Amino acid sequence: MSQKDSQTQSPPAPTATPAKVEPSKQQQGNLYNIVQLQLEKAAKSLNLSKDIALILSQPKNELIINFPVRMDDGSFKLFKGYRVQHNNILGPYKGGIRYHEDVTLDELKGLAAAMTWKSALHDIPFGGGKGGIKFNPRLHSKSELERITRRYTHALGSNIGPEFDIPAPDVGTTAQMMVWIMDTYMNVVGFGEKNAMRRVVTGKTIISGGSYGRESATGAGTVHCLTEWAKDRRFNLNGATVMVQGFGNVGSWTAKILAKMGVTLVATGDYKGYIFNPEGLNPHKLSEHVLATGSVEGYKHSKPITREEFFQVEADIFVPAALELEIGEKEAKALKCKVIAEGANGPTYPEAEAILTDRGIDVLPDILVNSGGVMVSYFEWLQNKRSERWDLEEVERRLEAGMKRTYSIVRDYAEERKLDFRTASYSIALDRLEKAYAERGIFP
Ligand code: NAD
Repeated sequence: MSQKDSQTQSPPAPTATPAKVEPSKQQQGNLYNIVQLQLEKAAKSLNLSKDIALILSQPKNELIINFPVRMDDGSFKLFKGYRVQHNNILGPYKGGIRYHEDVTLDELKGLAAAMTWKSALHDIPFGGGKGGIKFNPRLHSKSELERITRRYTHALGSNIGPEFDIPAPDVGTTAQMMVWIMDTYMNVVGFGEKNAMRRVVTGKTIISGGSYGRESATGAGTVHCLTEWAKDRRFNLNGATVMVQGFGNVGSWTAKILAKMGVTLVATGDYKGYIFNPEGLNPHKLSEHVLATGSVEGYKHSKPITREEFFQVEADIFVPAALELEIGEKEAKALKCKVIAEGANGPTYPEAEAILTDRGIDVLPDILVNSGGVMVSYFEWLQNKRSERWDLEEVERRLEAGMKRTYSIVRDYAEERKLDFRTASYSIALDRLEKAYAERGIFP
């Protein structure tokens, strides 16, 4: 990538309550239980100590806050916010903030645990956390979003901090919102050392201390994994096709970077609907359309399709980049791709993964694939700590090296032990966590 990221995207324009695209799998499953199953599977294959498995089965802290915010019309609304801190044995809690009407404590517990595994897998000195507010950000004006974000940060108070718990963007949150979090924190909690407080949050705008390459990092990391997969499988990406579920930060950047490598986007979809064009959808023009309208729906060079039809599209690569638990048994049987690169966190049910494996479809797991975001968040945090500014090329070089190094470690580990990539990734992460506990002991 050579272009500079534009990180000043404003929050989505308020719209009427969207009609949800068919019932999402999310309502039927519990991400926390699924992460537990995956933990148990890897723990067994690794022969992980029962004590460590027990400690890691629950987050250290679960914070729930209810806070009032004044709306533009003068009325007040009460919001429910969360912050789950899963584990910090390898470094400060780290993980995104989600604004979505379906946010639940169990979802955040699952996502926070996944952050612990992700940092440990990549040997990034962070732990795992996740937070969110249960509301639909699309129904609020920019000034309401600012007040909601600042009041949430105020309510969290010293429960976050630059060496303690470091939030970042996730579904429904933007670089601008991270700047509001930083500004509120440094004016309320850390006013004595304002500059040192910049790294209380990552994914900020460039001008306010963000890193070049952060906005595109998760998409770029996803593409690095696909490049390595293609090399191993002797598959030519140039001329291949991709379908992407979710066209927000992760989905749109993955599609844009893949396009440079000659991969054609043939289908995509978001919270409003799905679209298809076998001749190819231009991801840059589609991004402009999404910025203007809030959705891929209505993009003129496309045909609308249903969610069911989307999962039947012929494409070589599938990148889920929306919400978790979208690929159930039905979807696993319908998919026609060769590889799934999990841009989203937890998109695949274990039963579905078994079907995909039987069908010879490779699954590149979330904690390996979508970690470009936390990797560049770590670079941003380091730059803030050292008062440095790395140029885009430097960030991209480090990201590529980090992603490819971890990919090859996972591949070799999986091959040696005849494991699937997910179990191999979990095992490498759990092994590091276990070693840290063994050295430090469990207090008292
Ligand atoms: P985003 O808010 O920018 O985009 C989310 C996209 O999913 C949007 O296009 C939205 O319309 C779509 N969507 C929402 N509900 C949907 C539904 N029911 N069906 C289909 N599409 C739906 O969020 P993002 O940051 O791109 O995150 C996407 C996924 O990637 C999440 O699972 C997130 O946890 C994960 N992730 C994000 C990052 C990051 O750096 N942003 C890093 C790692 C993992």
